[in-house]
Amino acid sequence: MSDVSHLAFVALGANLADPLAQLRAAAAALAELPESRLLQLSSLYRTAPVGIRGQPDFINAVAAIETVLDPQQLLDALFVVERRFGRRREFHHAPRTLDLDLLLYDQRVVDSPRLSVPHPRMHLRAFVLAPLLEIAPLCRIPGRGTAAAWLPAVRGQAIQRLAE
Ligand code: AMP
Repeated sequence: MSDVSHLAFVALGANLADPLAQLRAAAAALAELPESRLLQLSSLYRTAPVGIRGQPDFINAVAAIETVLDPQQLLDALFVVERRFGRRREFHHAPRTLDLDLLLYDQRVVDSPRLSVPHPRMHLRAFVLAPLLEIAPLCRIPGRGTAAAWLPAVRGQAIQRLAE
């Protein structure tokens, strides 16, 4: 860990056990991450599950976080929050109370067995792009250009911004 601060974007998603309340509580938990500061939280969005059927809608949001943690330390801190929210991994794509993904860390590329940044599927998901662009309209995804350029590709994915 160094004392230089970095800008990270984290995706939040929940689709079990009162997801609206889960998302709000998760945002409060992100504000308490060690060596970090929650800069901004997007609106909350309601989305249909991607690639899975018979599950409730998701509530999603994106947070901008200033941190001196390195990417792996930040991911570990996100895992701690996920576990605190009682995430269960019964099977791949299993319903979860809270899912936290590290989307971007400055403009850095990380490719390790445990961590891929930018998140490899972020540009294909409306539930990531819409909240991300709300708080960072000029955001760039290393290797993929502007986040905004990917919006047309996800236009078919139903997503609804929730009123405050
Ligand atoms: P998921 O179940 O889709 O949330 O995936 C979690 C797994 O993906 C964990 O084992 C992480 O180590 C790994 N992973 C790789 N890159 C990322 C990332 N950018 N954000 C969150 N998890 C990641």
